[in-house]
Order: sequence, then C-alpha cells, then structure tokens
Amino acid sequence: ESKRSGAHGWRAYHPEMTDRRSRDVALAESIGEALRSDQFDVHYQPIIDLASGTPIGVEALVRWQHPTLGMVSPAEFVPVAERTGAIDGLGRHVLEVACRQVAAWRRGAPRAAGLYASVNVSPLQMRDGTFPATVRAALERSGLPPQALVMEITESAVVDERTVVPTLIALREQGIRVAVDDFGTGYSSLHLLGRLPVDILKIDRSFVSVLDGTSRSAGIAEAIIRLAGVLELSTVAEGIETPAQSAELQLLGCTAGQGYLLARPQTADRLTATWGARLPREAH
Ligand code: C2E
Ligand code: MG
Ligand code: MG
Ligand code: MG
Repeated sequence: ESKRSGAHGWRAYHPEMTDRRSRDVALAESIGEALRSDQFDVHYQPIIDLASGTPIGVEALVRWQHPTLGMVSPAEFVPVAERTGAIDGLGRHVLEVACRQVAAWRRGAPRAAGLYASVNVSPLQMRDGTFPATVRAALERSGLPPQALVMEITESAVVDERTVVPTLIALREQGIRVAVDDFGTGYSSLHLLGRLPVDILKIDRSFVSVLDGTSRSAGIAEAIIRLAGVLELSTVAEGIETPAQSAELQLLGCTAGQGYLLARPQTADRLTATWGARLPREAH
C-alpha cells in the first residue's frame, strides 16, 4: 500500500511511519508539561583519566520518564524538542541542574574537587545570541567556575560557522571550554576545524568500538588523535567498552575517555555515594 506512489514513489506508506509520527506528536505535545512538572532528570557519566582511573569530569545526559510512554531516549526526544522550540527551555534546565550538581560535588567531596561538567548543547541554542549570557547566569547562580564547564557541540553545529563562531568566542572568553562531540561523524572540513575556537575533540564511539589491536582497526582513532595533537586540542574517547580498547587508546596518545567499561551514566545520588564512599579512607 502506498500513499503517494507514482511520480514520487519513494514516499511509501508504512504503518510504522504513522506510529512514529503520532508518537512524535505525543512527545512534542508533552515536552512543555514535562518541563513544568519536572519529569526530566539529569544523569551523569564520569569522564576518566585513563592512566590513573581518576574521574576528571562528568557528562550530563538528560533522561525523560514519560508518564505513559515510560523512559524515552534523548536520541528520540531531543530532535523533537529542537523542532518545536522546546529545546531552549530543556537545554537551560539541563545546564542549570548540571552546574548546580557539579558545583555541589566540587565543594562537598575532595575526590570530586577538580571535576568539570560537560553539557551537550543543541545547534539551535548556539545560534541564539543570548546563549553566552544564559551560560554566565547559570555559572553565577551555581558558583561553578567557568573553567569547570565544557560545552559539547556537534559538528553539524559548527558547519553553520558564521553564527556559531561568535558564540564560541564569547564562551571561551569567559573561560569555558568547548568540545566537538561525536567527532569524525559530521561534515566539518579540516579547513574549518583548523580555525575553529575549540579545546577538545570527542572521538566518536564508532571509531572506538572497532579497535581490535590491529593497526588497520586503529586508523581513524589514530588519525584523530594526531590531528588533535597538531591543533593542540585534547581528546576524550567515547564508548570504551573493553580493557583492550582503553589500552590501545592510551598507546595512541588519548589520555581521557568514557564508556560502560569505566562507568555508566547514573543518577546524581548514586555518584554522590561513589565520591562519598571513598571519602573516609582518603580523609584519614
Ligand atoms: P552523546 O552526547 O554522544 O552521549 C553519549 C551517548 O553514548 C549517551 O547516550 C551515553 O549513554 C552513551 N554511552 C556512553 N558510554 C557508552 C558505551 O560504552 N557504549 C554505548 N553503546 N553507549 C555509551 P544517551 O544518554 O542515550 O544520549 C544520546 C544522545 O542524546 C547524546 O549523545 C546527545 O547527543 C543527546 N543528548 C543527551 N542529553 C542531552 C542534552 O541535555 N542536550 C542535548 N542537546 N542533547 C542531549
Ligand atoms: Mg555528548
Ligand atoms: Mg558523543
Ligand atoms: Mg554520540
């Protein structure tokens, strides 16, 4: 069965498509209410110094416990929020919560004193001229120093160079660092990257998961790490799932990473217990 076959026969009709669309509509309609009634939660995945195992930062990852649909993945609802404009409020909420949480950890636990917060930012937020002021306000309210904040942007955001670069410059002038997320999967040219005001490249999980100890499998990860070296950027590897991957990344010169092997994304309370549990031993 086809809704629009013929000249534009590619628009085949599938029942799943209707389901998906009505689910999207349902999500779009409930995001505003979800923000008002506090259904969004922020989980944190530690970013680890690979050689010592010490946590150096935490990535804030938004979670949505929908009243009827259950847990919905950000990979699904973030694009919906971008389409409806709700990403502005959602992004501000995650930023506020993450800054407050990491500031509290830094104050309360010696083991967490040097942690930074790494917060995902939508390209739409980056294009808003008031974004640097929004970030400054969140830092001031929370007491988190700008040096302890990293903004993660995707390559698709930086492709829109003219509107994004002034924002990046304004953020970095405040002392905030910028990371390019999922690096290697987007469309940014090397030409653009060389002039981009950023600090960190996050090596996409797809280049980490293929690492199997052969030089062939390491090609892209190695190239990204070398490129970062030339441009004087640091690297964080994403999606480390095996000790062999961690070892290989270190051999290639990548010093930091995150992944299920090291720590899963988890609630603030669970992480508080992690930092706290080691406190007495370190304090005495
Ligand atoms: P991302 O920023 O690249 O985040 C990494 C994703 O990989 C997270 O998925 C994380 O849970 C997952 N991950 C971490 N370690 C491993 C591993 O070892 N193996 C595998 N298979 N996966 C791992 P998550 O939390 O579902 O988030 C998906 C994406 O949604 C994020 O990708 C990010 O692009 C977006 N996102 C999440 N929170 C926010 C937010 O607050 N704002 C915006 N704009 N986007 C967000
Ligand atoms: Mg990210
Ligand atoms: Mg990523
Ligand atoms: Mg990713």
